[in-house]
Amino acid sequence: MAVNPAKYFDVNETISPAVRHRQLVAGLKKTVVYAYRHAPATRALMDQAGVKPADIREYADLPKLPVTRKTDVIALQKINPPYGGFLTVPAESVARVFISPGPIYEPLHTPRIKWFARAFWAAGFRKGDVVVNTFTYHLSPAGMLFYEALRHCGATVVNTGAGNTEIQIQTMRDLQVNGFVGTPSFLMTIIKKAEEMGLDFLKDFHIQKAWFTGEMLAPSVRKILEETYRINTSQAYAVTEPGGCIAYECEKHSGLHMMDDYVIEIIDPLTGKQLPPGEVGEIAVTPIHNKAWGLLRFGTGDLSSYTTAKCACGRTAHRLTGILGRAGDAVKVRGMFVVGKQADEVIMNSGAVSRYQLLVTREGQRDVLTLKAECKEAHHDANTLAEAINTRFQNVCRVKIDHFVVSETGKLDEKSPKITDLRKWD
Ligand SMILES: [Zn+2]
Repeated sequence: MAVNPAKYFDVNETISPAVRHRQLVAGLKKTVVYAYRHAPATRALMDQAGVKPADIREYADLPKLPVTRKTDVIALQKINPPYGGFLTVPAESVARVFISPGPIYEPLHTPRIKWFARAFWAAGFRKGDVVVNTFTYHLSPAGMLFYEALRHCGATVVNTGAGNTEIQIQTMRDLQVNGFVGTPSFLMTIIKKAEEMGLDFLKDFHIQKAWFTGEMLAPSVRKILEETYRINTSQAYAVTEPGGCIAYECEKHSGLHMMDDYVIEIIDPLTGKQLPPGEVGEIAVTPIHNKAWGLLRFGTGDLSSYTTAKCACGRTAHRLTGILGRAGDAVKVRGMFVVGKQADEVIMNSGAVSRYQLLVTREGQRDVLTLKAECKEAHHDANTLAEAINTRFQNVCRVKIDHFVVSETGKLDEKSPKITDLRKWD
């Protein structure tokens, strides 16, 4: 079937791969020059690596640039607060500041909204839709950005934010909501709760489409949502540090089309070497249409591979084959990164724990975080300690520890990683 580019959002997603490649390389060259001039942190990183903007002429030249990771951004922002030398516009022109775990401070810049709008558009969100946005509206960028992006597509948005399952249910029924934006786990929680309340999801609700990010959509969960509850599901891959939406699914669910606003590489996380299609490596992204933020070659820590094969939807952008796991020590739990260093600070600062392990498992459709701890005093009140650690853990890492297990001294293996991801995505 012929594809009508006009039906897409704000760019021609059906240009030939050769034209796209030329555009991306032209954008890359300009971006490197701009970032070198206006972002002191990027200039310093490039100088340290002995690379000049003129050295980056092709996609294949990118490995000359160092990979900058979340931990680097956190460290640079501590040294040079608040933006770490990545802001390329006057600070007074920043309309909003977002805070991501780390903490990392990031400015809002307009392209972020458009990028998500394209993903929502591909997922079928349009004028006439009534959508609950269940991402949090404070601190992190998700809630506000998705709200604006949905409005770009013409949809009516109900800013329900995170949590409050019963209010979500009532709102969805009262307003005849037909679109859901959130994590797959939270939608499953809502459905389960509705069923516990004696409601019939198919009869009593109107949800036809759901859009997810922040958490992997397991094929088994997708099957339940699509087949049992007749919801069209879509997902996007987003990383906040380099700007937001990086790749998104089309209606074919055949991987995530790379956004035309980034040069995306799959690299060996240890060497930074570019890997060919089909090989699994770390996703590294360089935004090329971002005049406010000079971060180049951001190593996301997420593992994927990509394909250059044609997609039946007509879009010609290469596709990521999904997110396969984490290369670093930050583990995503219920949509939030738990950074090893932060978790360590919280747990060890309690003063009562001598050794610990954090385990991430999956029970049903939900990530479960278990803290196994060896305590310094044998008779320590475990409940009080668990509560104290959890309060601080939630404040810092934004997720709750589900289970607190006190281990006997000497039981925990000193050599085991402090955070272990035991989830299986099948
Ligand atoms: Zn497609």
